[in-house]
Amino acid sequence: MQRRILAWFQAHRRALPFRDDPDPWRVWVAEVMLQQTRVEAMLPRYREFVARFPDPATLAAAEEEAVLAMWSGLGYYARARALHRAARRLARGGGEIPRAAAALKELPGVGEYTAAAVASIAFGEAVAVVDGNVRRVLARLFAVPGAPGRAAFERRIRELADELMRAGGAADPGAWNQALMELGALVCLPKRPRCGECPAAGACRARAAGREADFPERAPRPAATVVSTTRGVVRDAEEGLLLVRRRESPLRGLLDFPGGPCRAGESPRRALAREASRRYRLELVPGRALPPFPHQIMHRKITVFAFEATFAGASPDRLPEGARWVRPDHPPGIAAGAIFRKVLRLLPAP
Ligand code: SF4
Repeated sequence: MQRRILAWFQAHRRALPFRDDPDPWRVWVAEVMLQQTRVEAMLPRYREFVARFPDPATLAAAEEEAVLAMWSGLGYYARARALHRAARRLARGGGEIPRAAAALKELPGVGEYTAAAVASIAFGEAVAVVDGNVRRVLARLFAVPGAPGRAAFERRIRELADELMRAGGAADPGAWNQALMELGALVCLPKRPRCGECPAAGACRARAAGREADFPERAPRPAATVVSTTRGVVRDAEEGLLLVRRRESPLRGLLDFPGGPCRAGESPRRALAREASRRYRLELVPGRALPPFPHQIMHRKITVFAFEATFAGASPDRLPEGARWVRPDHPPGIAAGAIFRKVLRLLPAP
């Protein structure tokens, strides 16, 4: 079965830039970007990122704002901040990327998955990668009961992944790990697995039982939290748009329109004025409402209420710390979150 999966991988694998050149830094960046982002969406940003930061030393020397700007559009900025911290730690210690998964895991933001991916693909260490695709493939191949996240399920998947690595994967650990992940990404799909094209179909217990869709079981989703937030759009004919630098997670470090969450029972207009004053010492008066829109971050369902807004008094000569004017044509290089870009799209052209 393992030989068939490897042969299938050699014939069908996607030509991805970090595969042709398994440089440890490139593999690391790619694996971090791929954790919450589809390959098609991440590829253009990946190419720009490694062109601008071709090694940990160049990333370490960059300002956080430049790093976040290069991450713009990928979301989950905590990944970029952790990569930046890891690069700085490496730079302080001489700049060498550790070769072993155990040492890689000591770096900020590098978990079990990333460490195993980098160590196996770039350095050939025989350590098994377990990601969502691998979990699904192994759960079906071996009819593993239980749901991802549950201790017994995770333990069994880890045992199987380690056994397969020892059995047939160790000759080329990077290829074996990528083959399993690729099988999950292209053939053993979550909803409609293409068993007719699968190199492992003859050995698959879920397929033999006609129960492909039953593995892995689905963990009950946590109930979504429903919240509202606000943004205020202050324009100046000469200066552009008033933006602030967010200080709170998960948007910390990103430029955004001023505003923040509504309290229970609070009107969005009142919330905007209160949040702009409390967080950024900006005294704003909300004016015309823009159409509210939904936004989702993980299990948080957010309704965004944006308003055109003006200063409560005269336009201040000096903006408070963290606030700045930005031209509305949104020059490349600005690190901004998804809500900012959605509000920007609601504005009439300048
Ligand atoms: S036979 Fe079907 S269910 Fe089994 S591993 Fe292949 S694609 Fe997945």
